[in-house]
Amino acid sequence: MNFELTYQSRIAEYLHIDAEQVSLYWKGRVALYTMLKAMGVGPGDEVVLPAFTCVVVPNAILYLGAIPVYVDINPDTLCCNVAHIEQALSPKTKVILIQNMLGLSVEVSEIIALAKAQGIYTIEDCTHGFGGKHQGVFNGLRSDASFFSSQWNKPFSTGIGGMLVVNNRDLLESVNHLHSNLIKPSAKDQFILFMLIWARTYLLKGFTYWTFLRMYRWLSKKGLVVGSSSASELEGINMPKDYVKGMSTVQCRAGIKALNTIDQVISQRKKSGMSVHEWLTIQGKTSVPTEHLAQHAFLKYPILVTDRELFLRQAEKERIPLGDWFISPLHPVSDSLEPWGLEVSNFPNAVYISKHIVNLPLDLPVHRLINFLELYKNEII
Ligand SMILES: *Cc1c(COP(=O)(O)O)cnc(C)c1O
Repeated sequence: MNFELTYQSRIAEYLHIDAEQVSLYWKGRVALYTMLKAMGVGPGDEVVLPAFTCVVVPNAILYLGAIPVYVDINPDTLCCNVAHIEQALSPKTKVILIQNMLGLSVEVSEIIALAKAQGIYTIEDCTHGFGGKHQGVFNGLRSDASFFSSQWNKPFSTGIGGMLVVNNRDLLESVNHLHSNLIKPSAKDQFILFMLIWARTYLLKGFTYWTFLRMYRWLSKKGLVVGSSSASELEGINMPKDYVKGMSTVQCRAGIKALNTIDQVISQRKKSGMSVHEWLTIQGKTSVPTEHLAQHAFLKYPILVTDRELFLRQAEKERIPLGDWFISPLHPVSDSLEPWGLEVSNFPNAVYISKHIVNLPLDLPVHRLINFLELYKNEII
């Protein structure tokens, strides 16, 4: 059995698209890099993106010699509004990146219409948004292309992994060409990944989430496991060697398996997400605007807290595995963002949110989550 072809067609079936539109990569960032390159992005070109993202996103742009142009987010949705994107455009803009933050899609059709009118490409960052819909269409199917991630924390996991969906068929040939030149994952890559997936599935049952997380972070810092990012990706803007890698069989097999249960997983998250949403609304706390939630697949539920460190410690005590993602406008870089050309004083919303955000897991019994929130509600903004 050719696992890559099978996985590719399973994804296509799920999204109701053709298998030839789907291609697979070692990580989501490699799918993005490939797409930008296929669109002809190069030195001097500008790519518009949110000032609230993962650092690996501007990295993919900078590796091509292009210029990331950041746009502040709307603090209610954590996404960019079309009006702000419009102000960031210039004759050099080649691509607009539209990110579904924590799975939420906002003003996507409007942004795409704006881009089309000016001959600009659009790519959706659907790394959080697999399985969610916006105005009745799956995330990632309206733009010229979209990329997805199947890293540990994403909608479904293959350990690490990424995929690209190309909707603009004029781009398929160059994507296929680049895809055929990807580096093949080594036997060692595959073995380490296999062990990690195994460890995550079986050891996690014996250890607590926090012990496992600390162990994983320590090992990846030492370079002993395939971490989600290498040190060089977090320290600067030079492309690591072996960056443009394809997907391995181990990942394809994990992906095929994960897709079998994705609908159940999403429906559980939606139910929990809506319960949390209702609770926050009743308390008068910051919550995601209800009008966007109809077909939202809820990867996590973001909340703002006054003192994040304290809140995370309390969560650990109560055994609630809170996520501390987006602790900086370019997660997880906590020092200067200058190498990435992001001047923090221009993006007050992203700075404020990244100081106060934590995200709630939606795959545990929702009453535990609500009990925890009740206990510490005075610390929620
Ligand atoms: C995780 C993530 C990525 C990158 O995905 P990888 O598969 O880890 O490369 C890109 N954008 C956002 C917003 C992410 O959270």
